[in-house]
Formats: sequence, structure tokens, C-alpha cells
Amino acid sequence: MLEILQIPVWRDNYAYLARCTATDTVACVDSPEAGPILEALAERGWSLDLLLNTHHHPDHIGANKVLKEKTGCRIVGSCHDPERIPGIDRQVDEGDVVQVGEQHARVLFIPGHTRGHIAYHFEQAQAVFSGDTLFVAGCGRLFEGTAEQLWSSFQKLMALPPETKIYGAHEYTLSNIRFALSVDPDNLALRVLEVQAQALRETKQPTVPSTLAQELQTNPFLRVDRSEIAQAMDMPGAPPAQVLAELRARKDTF
Ligand SMILES: [Zn+2]
Repeated sequence: MLEILQIPVWRDNYAYLARCTATDTVACVDSPEAGPILEALAERGWSLDLLLNTHHHPDHIGANKVLKEKTGCRIVGSCHDPERIPGIDRQVDEGDVVQVGEQHARVLFIPGHTRGHIAYHFEQAQAVFSGDTLFVAGCGRLFEGTAEQLWSSFQKLMALPPETKIYGAHEYTLSNIRFALSVDPDNLALRVLEVQAQALRETKQPTVPSTLAQELQTNPFLRVDRSEIAQAMDMPGAPPAQVLAELRARKDTF
């Protein structure tokens, strides 16, 4: 089994520990800050074997060097961005497999948010660590890639089994839902999600992970090929990537 521990860091970041229970092998996904990750390891008596980075932003690689010094973990990151992943030991690309004990993660190359962004899909555990590319009801900003690249990255994620749990790196759900409802107001699944997410946040519980099935129903950025989203952008019949570009631009200033 893969045991996944979610570690809230700062106001809205999540780091994750993923442990193969059969072999006691532990991987950390992204490293915003060393303290909470080292504490979580110490509390459980776990030792860190691997650090899997999704992309180079400081709130994802900030504690790479400290974690490597303190635990001796091996650092895995994108072969499209090695110079921006501190301490990288192994460069991975689309289709590569990272072993975490008896569990394995297949790497998906999903550029758009950054030019080197990758995700880690644990097939047996039905979990994908999507970094800042896909959030609950939203997505990360287009900093370095094109809308075409991001749409093709989304299609890779959308091709995973619908029960796949999506472990994004931020708790942005409530603000994402507010924007999503502004462009997709008649989406009943989105209304239901709003009520559920509000209840969770009122008691400080995470809304992450969601499932791919939920995102396909509610996330407007995965629904840019639907007529209602194109219509909301005043772009009926436009290609999905163009609708995505407009949708992302509107979210940037929402
Ligand atoms: Zn980022």
C-alpha cells in the first residue's frame, strides 16, 4: 500500500509524504519548508529516501538542500529543468518510472505552469501529484508555457482513470470555485462542491485531494472543450486551447 500524509505548510501549500507500507520506503513530494516535513517524519519514525519535485518554484524546491543534508534523500526532478532543481540526482521525463519501495510512479511531462513541470502518477495507489498544474476546481497560472501546451498537459491528466485522486500543491479551492461559478453558474455538481468545500474549510479540513471524476464535472479549465464554457468566453466554436487561454486570463484578474 501507499500511505499518503498531507502536510499543510504556510497559508495554503501542501507537501506530501508517500510511504510504501511494505518496505517502509518514504518519498516526499515537493519541499516548501523543511521544518514541518522533518517534524512529520520524526513523529512517525520515518526516514526520507526520496524527494520528488514537480517544478522549480521556491515553494516547491525551497527545502531541497536542507532535506538532502539532514536525511540523505535522493532528489528526483524534471529533465527539462535540471538547473533549477537544487540538489537533483535523477532527471526524469515522460514515461519514466520512479520506484518508491514496491510502489511505482509514472512521470507525466505536463508543461504550461512552468516549462519543465512534471507530475507523478502512482498507478496502484490511484493517486497523482499534480503540483501547480491542476488544483481542485482550478489550475496554476501560465507562467512559462502556452495554452496549447497546458491543454495537452491537461489531456494527459484527463486520460487517467476517473477514480484517480488528484493531490495538488495548494488549498485554493474556495476561490477557485467562486471563479468557476462565475463562468459555469448552472453546473449543479459545482454548486454541490461549493457547499461541501465550505463545510470542510470551516473546520480547517483540506478539500484536497479530489478525484479526476470530480474535476471532469466541475473544473472549468478541464471543460474548455464544452460548449457552455466556450459560450461563457464569447467564443462559441473556438478550439479548446484558445478558450483555455481566455479562461486563464480572466482568472488572472478575477
Ligand atoms: Zn508553481
